[in-house]
Amino acid sequence: EILHHSPDRPPPSPSAPETHKEASSTGAHELALAISRHQLLPYYQPQIDLKSGTITGVEVLARWPHAEKGFIPPDHFIPLAEKHRLIHDLTLEIAGQAFAQAAHWRRSGVHLTVAVNLSPRLLDLPDFVSEVDALLQQYQLPAAQVIWEVTESSLAADLGIALANLARLRLKGFGLSIDDYGTGFSSMQQLSRIPFTELKIDRSFVHRAHQREHLRVILQSALDMAHKMSLVTVAEGIETLEDWKLLREFGCNLAQGYFIAKPMPSETFTGWVKTQNTRRHGRRGS
Ligand code: C2E
Ligand code: MG
Ligand code: MG
Ligand code: MG
Repeated sequence: EILHHSPDRPPPSPSAPETHKEASSTGAHELALAISRHQLLPYYQPQIDLKSGTITGVEVLARWPHAEKGFIPPDHFIPLAEKHRLIHDLTLEIAGQAFAQAAHWRRSGVHLTVAVNLSPRLLDLPDFVSEVDALLQQYQLPAAQVIWEVTESSLAADLGIALANLARLRLKGFGLSIDDYGTGFSSMQQLSRIPFTELKIDRSFVHRAHQREHLRVILQSALDMAHKMSLVTVAEGIETLEDWKLLREFGCNLAQGYFIAKPMPSETFTGWVKTQNTRRHGRRGS
């Protein structure tokens, strides 16, 4: 994914030359600095109700605009943050900015859920739940407006520890989403022990569906199962009109993907929402 948007703030030039800088990779030290200097930014990708076509929320995706290297992909800096114990600071930084934004939208009458990606490593920390609760208080945001996304594959390893904190998050009123569903190896038995509110079907699955009959069968079964468990269903990676139509026909609740919009910085997002409203309004009026 290549983003052409300019970041919210221009990345400042590094203050001092680094003596131990690795030639090929962007290191943990730089990431720690970027986090502490608030250089990591939340981008927002809309989620649309497939029946009504209205926007219901956003997924928050971290972006690292690097002074010399452009945007560093999350697939690089998230594992780096996990490895070097920076994921806690990173998550609180991104969630804090996103909560502030959601509270701002809320004050202007726009009620959107914000879905934040949650590394399973944070579920081992005893204080994490109270920390995010404090963030909510700070921004006067109801917990029901926040959804934590946890990937199916990350849970399979040590469900025991994660389970207690996931339950605590749910009790606080947060939504809980199974991310990248279909790519992991979790059993129905495991998944049913976690009080999830939402199931997000992995994009690899969404794409191949209209070409392959057997995948459509699995897709439909997953949606049926999720709906019978009263879970909201989200299809990620909706890239074409075909994808959109198929998922709508199959009764999936929400759609997210490039067909609708790429992840955007807050200003671009605000503008995008306005054009959507104008378009809908115009259609209704005509
Ligand atoms: P994810 O949570 O599954 O996020 C969806 C990814 O799919 C995002 O990639 C998004 O930009 C991309 N995407 C959205 N629509 C489409 C589409 O139509 N087609 C394709 N091909 N891709 C689409 P991104 O932003 O590069 O993030 C990659 C992963 O990094 C995320 O996967 C998530 O696991 C992780 N990540 C991103 N931000 C954070 C964060 O703040 N915290 C944590 N723990 N992980 C994060
Ligand atoms: Mg996600
Ligand atoms: Mg996903
Ligand atoms: Mg993913």
